[in-house]
Amino acid sequence: MTFWTREINRLRAKRRYWEKKLLGLLDTMAPLTVSRSYHVCGNPRCKRCRKEGGKHGPFLYATYKDERRKTHTFYVPVGVEHLVEEAHKAWGDFKEIGRRIGEINREILKLQLQERRR
Ligand SMILES: [Zn+2]
Repeated sequence: MTFWTREINRLRAKRRYWEKKLLGLLDTMAPLTVSRSYHVCGNPRCKRCRKEGGKHGPFLYATYKDERRKTHTFYVPVGVEHLVEEAHKAWGDFKEIGRRIGEINREILKLQLQERRR
């Protein structure tokens, strides 16, 4: 086995580790960001809003941009906040692992080019 073959195999094994991690995220990942906002309800007799700085909330919203870069926002009902939080976190991990796999592929590519130049 040549130096290049050994190195390429080592990198492929490393890539398989990240491929498994990536697959584990496919069910939950979604490109969105999560934000919280507070509202003044407008009812002059609302006890909460009459207090100094008093507001209702937090209300959770998920935001994303479509392929035309237009921003969309949707309300996240109370009790299912964890679903969008998980989707957001999984999306970040997905991109990070994708980058790592790309870097491994770049190293493999460089080795393959070196091997051919011999
Ligand atoms: Zn109010």
